[in-house]
Amino acid sequence: MPHIKPLFRSLPSSTPTINYYDWLLGRPELKSWSDFTLHIDAVTGEQRQARAVLERFEHAATALATSPRDGGLGLLSGRREVVGILSENCLEYPVLVFALLKLAVPVAFLPSQSTPQETVELLKLSSVTCLFASEQLYSHAAAAAKAIGLPEEGIFILQGDVTGKLSLPNLIEDVKARGLPKITTRTVQDDTLAYLMFSSGTTGLPKAIMISHRNIIFSTSQLEGINEEIAKVYTPDDAKIPVHLAVLPWYHAMGAHIFVFRLFLSPSTLVIVPHWSADLIVKTFSKYPITHFIMVPSMTYQVLHNPKLQKLDLSSLAFVVTGAAHLPPELRVAFERRAKNLPVFSEGYGLSECTAVAMVLPLPGMFGGRVDPVRGMTGILCPSLEARILREDGSEADYNEIGELILRGPTIALGYLNNENSTKETFKDGWLYTGDRFYMDRQERFFYVDRRKDTFKVSGKQVSPTEIENAIREHPSQLIIDVAVAGVKGERLSSELVPRAWIVLSETGKAQGVEAVLSALNGWARLRLSKHKWLRGGLQVVDEIPRLPTGKVLRRKLQDELLDQYTTR
Ligand code: AMP
Repeated sequence: MPHIKPLFRSLPSSTPTINYYDWLLGRPELKSWSDFTLHIDAVTGEQRQARAVLERFEHAATALATSPRDGGLGLLSGRREVVGILSENCLEYPVLVFALLKLAVPVAFLPSQSTPQETVELLKLSSVTCLFASEQLYSHAAAAAKAIGLPEEGIFILQGDVTGKLSLPNLIEDVKARGLPKITTRTVQDDTLAYLMFSSGTTGLPKAIMISHRNIIFSTSQLEGINEEIAKVYTPDDAKIPVHLAVLPWYHAMGAHIFVFRLFLSPSTLVIVPHWSADLIVKTFSKYPITHFIMVPSMTYQVLHNPKLQKLDLSSLAFVVTGAAHLPPELRVAFERRAKNLPVFSEGYGLSECTAVAMVLPLPGMFGGRVDPVRGMTGILCPSLEARILREDGSEADYNEIGELILRGPTIALGYLNNENSTKETFKDGWLYTGDRFYMDRQERFFYVDRRKDTFKVSGKQVSPTEIENAIREHPSQLIIDVAVAGVKGERLSSELVPRAWIVLSETGKAQGVEAVLSALNGWARLRLSKHKWLRGGLQVVDEIPRLPTGKVLRRKLQDELLDQYTTR
């Protein structure tokens, strides 16, 4: 099988490296746009116009660069700085990120749902020298900072008020009051770090992924290239600017790229939702005409199954994309049925190590219909990437043969910070080893199979949790609303893992009773799957499958903490 090159127009590899701030915000078309509402806080209703936000970026950069003697932070004083951000999505989040880009000071995106102990580890991993936290997360930030010896004066408030603490809005007001001049954008090299993002750590210890300004330039250009192709087959009826439900977490690659880095690529309004909450989503949909809903599959589930969200009026929606985790085919079908006449329903596959997206599900008719979507398909390769699928022995897989996906191109990360071993394992000869198993058909359509690290062997044969989950979901009686499978220690050979399923019952399932559902699903798995994939580790009912806000199943948590009850085997 040949190396696969994308159907999309390639981006010029000779693109010069400039600071992402100037690359994005220096585009001539920006000047010709009339002003528009860029940000709306879904909780308070506060709105910000695009031009005011651009001004705010400048003032914030000045405040961060100005020496402490003159009321600033002095981030350019010569010390190597890394600024941590610990906050839910909020108005000031992009202000801080863009100010730091302008100064070429790297930002570390700390997951807002982490425990203080996890934050301590991430602060150590990324050698953070200064930390911005939201009012809500301030005490969490302060405790974590103390544990790594970061002085209290190094912690600032991103948004909100904490007595005695300086905040980003305070710093910006001060710059305005003093009338301090704008500062010039710092120049960057090919390997100048723009940010650190943390790998999910669903199976192993987290790592700090290093992304350069050049990586983001190409990643945003990819989105432009994809939009160009979408525009050939889909043009919205009216000229209104899109209204996005910005609810994905911004500390993660997908949220950061769609809602922070790609600001000003084209005019759009973002309704900022701090975190996923059914009540907030209902309130936001009833107040704003949401047209774009970029989500992770666990949100898709909830829109379909959460009693509060089942009543949502989705009629304003025109553009839905899922990503960050596998979207089971029957969930796609159910959502399409629910959203009715949705013009665009796409999917993105990507990983933080390739900046953002690597594959996108084409719309019917794109590229002359050559790669029209089919059931179970994940996508086609994004602009400027090359892909190969390898067998376990490193040789090239054939068409339709499952193997590990490897990727090469200008969006591949610089590596992992201070982690040479993992860098060597994952980045080899310019190729990123994704750890994801895929196969590709002759039309160069890619199909996600599972994550290599989640698979395990039973009697020497490979077992894929994703395959078993998909089979269980296909039970015709809709007994469950969610399922996850992982390997647990079996009885026969203590070292061998056997598959176990954790399920969340649907209303139908609850009406039938736990015992009846478990034995129905157990029987179904035996009917559908070969023997080594049978649920010999049992089945268990839980209230909820533990997931990250990105939709990824926390299999480690299932295996370590949710093993209390063997119900059926
Ligand atoms: P992260 O770097 O946290 O975004 O995690 C990247 C991983 O998420 C990938 O290696 C995949 O295992 C998974 N992933 C992302 N998008 C998809 C998708 N569309 N389908 C299946 N898995 C996905």
